[in-house]
Amino acid sequence: MKLLITGGAGFIGSAVIRHIINDSDDVVINLDKLTYAGNLESLASVSQSNRYTFEQVDICHRAELDRVLNRYQPDAIMHLAAESHVDRSIDGPAEFIQTNIVGTYTLLEAARHYLRAMEPKRKAQFRFHHISTDEVYGDLPHPSEAADSTAQLFTESSAYAPSSPYSASKASSDHLVRAWQRTYDLPVLITNCSNNYGPYHFPEKLIPLVILNALEGKPLPIYGKGDQIRDWLFVEDHARALYRVIREGNPGETYNIGGHNEKQNIEVVHTICEILQELRPQASSYKALITNVADRPGHDRRYAIDASKIHLELGWAPTETFETGIRKTVQWYLDNYHWCQRVQDGTYQRERLGTNQ
Ligand code: NAD
Repeated sequence: MKLLITGGAGFIGSAVIRHIINDSDDVVINLDKLTYAGNLESLASVSQSNRYTFEQVDICHRAELDRVLNRYQPDAIMHLAAESHVDRSIDGPAEFIQTNIVGTYTLLEAARHYLRAMEPKRKAQFRFHHISTDEVYGDLPHPSEAADSTAQLFTESSAYAPSSPYSASKASSDHLVRAWQRTYDLPVLITNCSNNYGPYHFPEKLIPLVILNALEGKPLPIYGKGDQIRDWLFVEDHARALYRVIREGNPGETYNIGGHNEKQNIEVVHTICEILQELRPQASSYKALITNVADRPGHDRRYAIDASKIHLELGWAPTETFETGIRKTVQWYLDNYHWCQRVQDGTYQRERLGTNQ
């Protein structure tokens, strides 16, 4: 299979590409604009493969999308390109509207026109897989408010109720994808996944930020009381799930993906501090660096996924528990401190752009 993957230089996209190149015979065309979040060094282990190609393209640029589709003739599209950081969406929503909504619309139109010229047998097998988030469902009651709340999980039929500009833009893109199937018969698949963590995560998100700040003796910022609950999934488990869906998922279906790992943010930070104390012991406790900061506006209280559909229908289940995945992640950041520093201080971006500023 020849797969066009958008956003392949990002955190999850690069894990998907590493998985496909290492564990299948499929061909990958990575289409990415290379925003601040895109990093081709995350693909260094597979970029020499003759089954891998990179195209630097903005998904909002229709003529470029047409050129790439006509040149490579992919059998499927996996669409991961997005602006993905909630805090950035609160500070500046415009990029999120542009990439996540207008960009998805532009890609849907390019795919629709590309399919028109395809012969019926290939067309019947084509898939447009839209990768989305559980944040489109809003949030669930927190155990501190309702004792029986832990029984409530997001299912594929949960109503959409996004809270942030990020989640609203992703919800919009999900609606566009469903409409393109219903109106134009585009064979789509949608997946909504919980919070990911693991190697090559841009160090603005909670887990890499805490690991790196702790190593540098900087404050470990915790929003509010730190009691927000997220359902954590190791990124390589997500990559396997996405590949399973593009291969075996039924067109028109939505699959929720989650790790069965509900944790309060403060528990996550404590766990990281304890693992660091074991792997990089220091005299004062890393936990002493924890600093409470003002809560994020509209902050969702709890996310939790019911992933039984993908398990029952496609046989996928996560292989990592939170305890095994977080240990691998901390170890990876210790072993790849150089990658993080180059991303954080802008060296990587400057070298890529060929500037010295
Ligand atoms: P990321 O921010 O790490 O990567 C996004 C990638 O998209 C980057 O490589 C960036 O350069 C590229 N990109 C951005 N705008 C583009 C544009 N206009 N044209 C082409 N490329 C562009 O994001 P991620 O964490 O890897 O998330 C990937 C997808 O998975 C997103 O759609 C996100 O909504 C979804 N998702 C993420 C999580 C999570 O926990 N990170 C959970 C569920 C779903």
